[in-house]
Amino acid sequence: MSMSNPLLWPKARVIWGYGIALLSVYTALLISRWPPVRLETAPVSLFLGAIMLSAWFGGLGPGLLATALSSLAFDYYFLPPIYSLVAKPGEIPRLVIFTVSALFVGSLSAAQRSATESLRRARDDLRGTVKELQKTNEALHAESLERKHAEEALRHAQGDLARVSRITTLGELTASLAHEVNQPIAAAVTNANTCLRWLTREHPDLEEAREAASRIVKDATRAAEIVGRTRLLFKKGTAQRELVSLNEMVREMIVLLRGEATRHKILIATDLATGLPQVMGDRVLLQQVLMNLMLNGIEAMKDVDGKRELLIKSQQTENEEVIVSVSDTGVGLPAQQADQIFKAFFTTKPQGTGMGLSISRSIVEAHGGRLWADGNSPRGASFCFTLSTKSEEHG
Ligand code: ADP
Repeated sequence: MSMSNPLLWPKARVIWGYGIALLSVYTALLISRWPPVRLETAPVSLFLGAIMLSAWFGGLGPGLLATALSSLAFDYYFLPPIYSLVAKPGEIPRLVIFTVSALFVGSLSAAQRSATESLRRARDDLRGTVKELQKTNEALHAESLERKHAEEALRHAQGDLARVSRITTLGELTASLAHEVNQPIAAAVTNANTCLRWLTREHPDLEEAREAASRIVKDATRAAEIVGRTRLLFKKGTAQRELVSLNEMVREMIVLLRGEATRHKILIATDLATGLPQVMGDRVLLQQVLMNLMLNGIEAMKDVDGKRELLIKSQQTENEEVIVSVSDTGVGLPAQQADQIFKAFFTTKPQGTGMGLSISRSIVEAHGGRLWADGNSPRGASFCFTLSTKSEEHG
């Protein structure tokens, strides 16, 4: 409660209310009895006015006080016999009517005042609530912005993770293969040079040349074995085989790559067959294939104008196969080089490895399937792979 306005203190307000009642009735009496005004004949309106004023400012108590004082004054000063509180029996109805009217006007004024008060309080409450709502709204807005930023960061992180995972796998495979194959090839070159030297001498030493040549055969066989072993990595027995639901895998990959797609304003759509049979395979390697195809599709659409949609379809064929296709509306297969894209190290990208499609094809073939590419009409490319469902459970 503010100390600077004593009228707002509850006790002071009460005293002030009764004071107004006394003052207003006294003023009404003075005016009605002031000779130059000559209002002795119509004091009722003045008293009613005083009662209304008292009830309005002070409420019911001061209103009643003003009513009582006005009735006494009216009786004493205006009803015959004048200057007596005992009115003539014939004047009593006038006194009663005055008192009843005074009570009615007073209570009406007090009720109106209290209604106005409650309205004001309700309005203040409403204002408070609106302010609180505004604050809550602002807080919610800030929180939603924060969440949006966090989601954006998460999407970036997922995209980076997908790219890093692909590059790491391809990089590791390529590096280890290159390193292991390089040694026997280097030895074969040295031995071939030695062989040539023995043969080109003035008196060729055929025995030494034969030994060098057989070392070359050994080196080349070792290189072939390394390549064969690497291919075996994807073959049955060495890889982890389990029942894999391709639809589920598609959905997982979409979650992982959605951020990357959104960043390039690409829509990912699916058309997945229901009740698709599961396939037996290496989940991680098959994920790698799908991720490669999807990332290639996204990369192919990054800079094209118009519709950008990556559509992933799954369906069952009549000869117990599942076929998955990844279609994009990107730049399309490189002209005149479409047959090269599955070759290792073939790439048209400045940062490309050229290994994605060749490894993906090896993985699919190691699972007994096929992977191929087609042009897309009117724009883009489609990559499809099949996997056998023979004697596997449905899922
Ligand atoms: P990289 O992506 O590192 O170039 P890949 O083996 O995955 O290696 O792809 C080889 C090449 O095939 C790419 O450089 C590109 O020219 C072509 N290619 C692959 N996917 C697509 C596609 N969705 N649309 C158009 N061209 C593609």
